[in-house]
Amino acid sequence: MARIKGGMKFTCSHCAHHVSTLDFDARDGNLRTQAATAINQHATNVHHEPVMFSSLDAQQRIWRA
Ligand SMILES: [Zn+2]
Repeated sequence: MARIKGGMKFTCSHCAHHVSTLDFDARDGNLRTQAATAINQHATNVHHEPVMFSSLDAQQRIWRA
């Protein structure tokens, strides 16, 4: 996950697939939650295991900062 202009980018930990918060509509809910859900669904579907973020707690603290 990285900060990009206007949002956040989530990269699969198993391949180069990525999504960004810009791909989602805020009317559907929290953009970061949608992006994180999407990248985890990708990893689960394609790699049969979820993306392993180094520390969700730390990232959430960054998100809230
Ligand atoms: Zn992947």
